[in-house]
Amino acid sequence: MSDVVDVKAGIKNILDRIAIASQNRPKHFTKQVQLVAVSKTKPVEAIIKAYEAGQRHFGENYVQELQEKANSPLILEKCKDINWHFIGHLQGNKVNKIVKFPRLYMIETIDSVKLAESVNSAWQKHRLENDGKLKILIQVNTSGEENKSGIKPEELTELYQHMTEKCTALEVDGLMTIGEFGYDYLKGPNPDFVCLMECAARLPNTEKLELSFGMSDDFEKAIEMGSTIVRVGSSIFGFRPKKE
Ligand SMILES: *Cc1c(COP(=O)(O)O)cnc(C)c1O
Repeated sequence: MSDVVDVKAGIKNILDRIAIASQNRPKHFTKQVQLVAVSKTKPVEAIIKAYEAGQRHFGENYVQELQEKANSPLILEKCKDINWHFIGHLQGNKVNKIVKFPRLYMIETIDSVKLAESVNSAWQKHRLENDGKLKILIQVNTSGEENKSGIKPEELTELYQHMTEKCTALEVDGLMTIGEFGYDYLKGPNPDFVCLMECAARLPNTEKLELSFGMSDDFEKAIEMGSTIVRVGSSIFGFRPKKE
């Protein structure tokens, strides 16, 4: 029941915890950590509450749901500076749709040359002149699970090079991973986070890359390991029933 959740207090609580975790980082991590509030399955009223608390970056992982929210008259009226991050698996046949959504800020889940090319040409057609380049993160499959999206770590450099050389409508800002669910931190540092940091170290401009990892259960651990974007949903908006 989202109406009993205090979204504003939730945002403040997470921002406080991000600030503390940022101070606990090794000194060579200097980038400011950005909170993406993951609003999937939650109503626009909850998004507006978070926006009124100062939150500007929001994440959604279904194209259809993002389409409804991004075009919602209430959002368009009350959240003029909202920035949408798409964090779900992007199907090729949805690309022409998603590039038209108002205030689309970043797609965090590009994981193949084919998808990159398709987003690049769609953005070129619809937006390039008005909005400059579209921000992109490359999603890496750090856990090696067959059913997970993301490019294999060993194929990352090739995709990164292809995109920076050929996809001139896109701006590759960094990397993203989801990783294994329910990792037991008693076993040591999360291997998905270790893997993503190793991937980042192999790319040029490592210190400038945005690195998106860490969710409600582990965003502080992620920040201490070098995450610069954390995607937090249930700790802000409350429990989320599983989608059918
Ligand atoms: C749902 C989701 C999150 C947020 O998960 P919480 O555990 O609710 O914080 C983050 N990233 C992705 C890709 C998601 O789908």
